[in-house]
Amino acid sequence: MDAHHITALGKLLGDDSRVLTKPQVVERLSRDFYWYSPVLRRQLDGKVGEVVVQPLTVGEIQDVLRYCHRCDIAVTARGAGTGNYGQAVPLHGGVVLDLARMDRIEGIRLDGVAVCEPGVRLGVLENEARKSGWDLRCYPSTIVKASVGGFLGGGSGGVGSVAHGGLRDFNTVRALEVVTMEREPRVVLHEGEAVHEILHAWGTNGVITRIWLALTPAVEWAQCVVAFDTFDSAFDFSERVATDSAWTKRLVTTFEWPISSFFVPIKQYVPDGKSLIFFLIASEQLGGLETAARTAGATIPYSCLYQGLRSVPLLSDYTWNHTTLWALRTDPAWTYLQCGFNPVTVRDQFRQLRSRFGKEILFHIEFMKNGTGQVVPGSIPLVYYTTEERLNQIINCCREIGVFVANPHVNNVEGGGRYRTDNVQLRAKQRYDAKGLLNPGKMITFKPEDAAMETVPTR
Ligand SMILES: Cc1cc2nc3c(=O)[nH]c(=O)nc-3n(C[C@H](O)[C@H](O)[C@H](O)COP(=O)(O)OP(=O)(O)OC[C@H]3O[C@@H](n4cnc5c(N)ncnc54)[C@H](O)[C@@H]3O)c2cc1C
Repeated sequence: MDAHHITALGKLLGDDSRVLTKPQVVERLSRDFYWYSPVLRRQLDGKVGEVVVQPLTVGEIQDVLRYCHRCDIAVTARGAGTGNYGQAVPLHGGVVLDLARMDRIEGIRLDGVAVCEPGVRLGVLENEARKSGWDLRCYPSTIVKASVGGFLGGGSGGVGSVAHGGLRDFNTVRALEVVTMEREPRVVLHEGEAVHEILHAWGTNGVITRIWLALTPAVEWAQCVVAFDTFDSAFDFSERVATDSAWTKRLVTTFEWPISSFFVPIKQYVPDGKSLIFFLIASEQLGGLETAARTAGATIPYSCLYQGLRSVPLLSDYTWNHTTLWALRTDPAWTYLQCGFNPVTVRDQFRQLRSRFGKEILFHIEFMKNGTGQVVPGSIPLVYYTTEERLNQIINCCREIGVFVANPHVNNVEGGGRYRTDNVQLRAKQRYDAKGLLNPGKMITFKPEDAAMETVPTR
């Protein structure tokens, strides 16, 4: 990028200190956790932006986008950079728009809706919400670091999803505002169903600047580790608790041995050879859960009242995609898939995968409610990586036997499995970013010539 662009961006902000050009800094703020995937590592290593711009206001974002639109400069939005698929990695240089400093919580409304800017960290929002009697409905296990805007742009669900579904379900995202990438960037409000035009679009069709997020009444939680001799008995028990609405729960995670042997900091709670379940359960139900688990043949290596995100240990730090992180620290050959087992045939699906791939695939189950209200066995199984061909064989086999796979080894919105088949994200991009300058290369069905054919904006 020519030096005069950098000077111009500094002038627009009236503050050079928020236009970062130091190569190490630009490189760090161009990366995310794509290296979880050996496939993406090969594709994305070395991809960097040319400058990082840190806006403080919506007006500044409009100024930056107006300038970049005029000069045909790519812009990639960034929250905290904890995404797993290289979502925030710029493929075509340009500006990394770092939104971390737009971190104001406007308020927690009496009806349980948080209104905030995109750079607010989810952990900060959860702590603030609890002060007025509310919990986040669902959050990624990266809650401490990840931003609200990044969760909407690239995340899907996590802790809490067993009770409240994913981020896209049950009207959890009530509304959001985006700034468009046009000659004269507009601020557009998306409410109700229209939020789906922007959710999980990886920042390719607008920069989210304001969010209305529905919360749920706060619960006093307890953490509990339950250990069974076999994965089958652990799965049976976890499924019973997850699917029975009498239990108030926030997390039901099941690991087959030896996954929990990777959890080095909590090894005192990990009995050798056992399959474990990690629960976040209403504290008033903890005694009942322990009794039910013991009756089913389990032991309870650990249980305690939950002290919020400062809890030691914080069990959620070992669940969702943190599980893969612990495995990778033990052996960098581990990678993962994102799957959905069929609740009716799940045991048969386990059997088929085991007989075909042995311990090349290890079962890590995350129960979650789907959009129709049914609690189903989601999964982030560990896969021992040897070659891309073998990885694809495993993915294909999963699909052949009816296991849904959202492939985390691709770097585009469409390939990841969470693209809307009604193309609303693409249509929004055609309206809001006809030149294709927002995070270019990540929405591969977008063609600037199609966008040019779009008529007057409808929103
Ligand atoms: C250890 C680990 C565990 C994880 N566990 C989970 C999990 O449980 N559930 C889950 O869903 N994910 C999980 N993730 C992925 C990731 O942490 C979450 O999706 C997180 O919410 C991303 O937030 P972020 O602020 O880091 O976003 P970033 O990585 O910075 O951005 C994500 C995407 O959103 C876009 N974006 C960012 N801000 C905006 C904005 N304001 N407007 C428009 N687009 C924007 C970016 O361009 C990018 O495409 C995990 C990742 C790791 C490394």
